[in-house]
Amino acid sequence: MAYDNDNVFAKILRGELPNTTVYEDESVLAFNDISPRTPIHVLVIPKRPYIDMDDFVINGSPEEVSNFFAKVVEITHQLGLREDGYRLVANTGKNSGQLVPHFHIHIMSGKPLGEAGM
Ligand code: 5GP
Repeated sequence: MAYDNDNVFAKILRGELPNTTVYEDESVLAFNDISPRTPIHVLVIPKRPYIDMDDFVINGSPEEVSNFFAKVVEITHQLGLREDGYRLVANTGKNSGQLVPHFHIHIMSGKPLGEAGM
């Protein structure tokens, strides 16, 4: 499957759609989810075009992958979530219901989240 340059996160990265940025550097963008399912619901994406977690981990360089996940944890700390904790979700492929085909991690927190699901 080829990367779709018209997906909404590609448009956000090109500045064609607005977003509420919570963190940005040369390789990563984090912004609030447009329809938050939890009081804190942030999406973290690599700036390079990967379709999903599988694509990212297999085709990204080891440095890129480890840097990305280190940034995710850094962002949880910046959001003040270290003490109360958080949930990370990476929907991947058909069964997951992934809607946007640009790899992203959901950071969800702000209340007790219960056992499973989103
Ligand atoms: P997925 O189901 O692909 O893992 O999650 C995609 C997420 O992107 C959803 O939680 C959805 O609310 C969010 N989303 C979709 N379109 C936009 C948008 O234009 N801006 C922002 N900030 N979030 C979006």
